[in-house]
Amino acid sequence: MNDTSSNDAEKAALETGRLLFAGPCDFLVSAADENDLPKLSGGTEVAFAGRSNVGKSSLLNALTGRKTLARTSNTPGRTRLLNFFSLGGRLILVDLPGYGYARAPKTDIERWNELTRGYLKGRPQLRRVCLLIDARHGLKPSDLEVMKALDIVAVSYQIVLTKADKMKPGPLKRLIEETEAAVARHPAAHPVCHVTSSASGEGIPELRAALAALAEPAPGR
Ligand code: GDP
Repeated sequence: MNDTSSNDAEKAALETGRLLFAGPCDFLVSAADENDLPKLSGGTEVAFAGRSNVGKSSLLNALTGRKTLARTSNTPGRTRLLNFFSLGGRLILVDLPGYGYARAPKTDIERWNELTRGYLKGRPQLRRVCLLIDARHGLKPSDLEVMKALDIVAVSYQIVLTKADKMKPGPLKRLIEETEAAVARHPAAHPVCHVTSSASGEGIPELRAALAALAEPAPGR
């Protein structure tokens, strides 16, 4: 591909992402255990995971341009559930419970595992997990535990750095390099980190485009 056609392809991908995320976005269901998981035939899912306070709700809001998603997921009683949202029936966004907040991270991860392991294991329509990492903190032991769990169930995942606006360019570049070096050792991880800021909007159109590439085709295409 020459420069002009790769630029055109990039623009088209960004537009496809914009259109998908600007369309309808409906709350489907909250699942407390495996029995509650929606039985979707053929739908494609992308899940979002991360430590509590990583900026997951803000990222979901920024992606969809709505407050509804995060408010629904942050409703008391729903924060420890799996929350499913449908983007026009073409892509299901799954908000996984935050982990790593407790003082005893091991116990917390075990709880996270219990809630999500069944989902991750038996979900052929799950195409990607976005694993959110706070750019100020980098990978923490609880993140590494989750990465190990994802490697074991062989679910493809990608690191999404959040709150990039909080970092100066030099330290951010170093963190990206360190994180990419760390994920290179993980078989199910996508090698490239995605850098975002919900506050400034950095990386949001590109993440929409990357996720739209996994979605079911629009009707009539
Ligand atoms: P969650 O617990 O992972 O859902 O995290 P939230 O989305 O609720 O965000 C946690 C805190 O980080 C809140 O105070 C947000 O305002 C802040 N935050 C989230 N995203 C960003 C961002 O991109 N930039 C900055 N500066 N702050 C952010």
